[in-house]
Amino acid sequence: SCTAREVTAAVRRGAEVISVHRDELVELDRAIGDGDHGENMDRGFRAVLAQLELADPPTPGAVLKLVATTLISSVGGASGPLFGTAFLRAASTVGDAESLDATAIAASLRAGVDGVVARGKAEPEDKTMIDALLPAVRAAEESAGRGGEPGGTLATAAEAAEVGARSTVPLVARKGRASYLGDRSAGHLDPGARSVALLLAAFADVEG
Ligand code: ADP
Ligand code: MG
Ligand code: MG
Repeated sequence: SCTAREVTAAVRRGAEVISVHRDELVELDRAIGDGDHGENMDRGFRAVLAQLELADPPTPGAVLKLVATTLISSVGGASGPLFGTAFLRAASTVGDAESLDATAIAASLRAGVDGVVARGKAEPEDKTMIDALLPAVRAAEESAGRGGEPGGTLATAAEAAEVGARSTVPLVARKGRASYLGDRSAGHLDPGARSVALLLAAFADVEG
């Protein structure tokens, strides 16, 4: 199961992957938004890395809480508060447990998506990060229910997020800036959904 050290490594890997894909996320947001998503995410996760240099959070929940508060305070735009809320809800769900098994990981993902829905009011097929998050959560819950290991559960979630993100391409946006484009938002990948898929793939890369 995943200890604070492994969750910290996963977050660091997430920051690295976001940084590598910064320009791609900028381009995706340029097509249907205001072109800042890559900057927003990269700024947020750089700030997270800086905070992790200063603090060594003792539990998985403390790591998730540090990520949440740092994203909320350093990322403007829609995505900062939404990702921040997801990590905050995930943190409170895992509490002060010393390590996370697959069931706890699935529960934290479920709490995260519920937080994003509560805050952003998006429904499935509104062409948002929800379209990547929701299938990822369902896949994680199924994997954990089958007795999957944390690594396999995260890998399954990451695959589902990738498929979910790609499913946003034909959709017309009904939430966020992309919705201002109306029908012209169709034919493009949603940047926030792409970020969710990238982050989960990065997390799955580390947990074993
Ligand atoms: P902004 O739109 O403020 O510039 P970003 O570009 O960083 O913020 O993030 C845009 C992403 O945020 C979108 O691609 C979408 O996935 C997500 N998003 C926007 N509004 C919502 C919402 N209400 N619910 C869920 N996700 C949303
Ligand atoms: Mg934007
Ligand atoms: Mg913006």
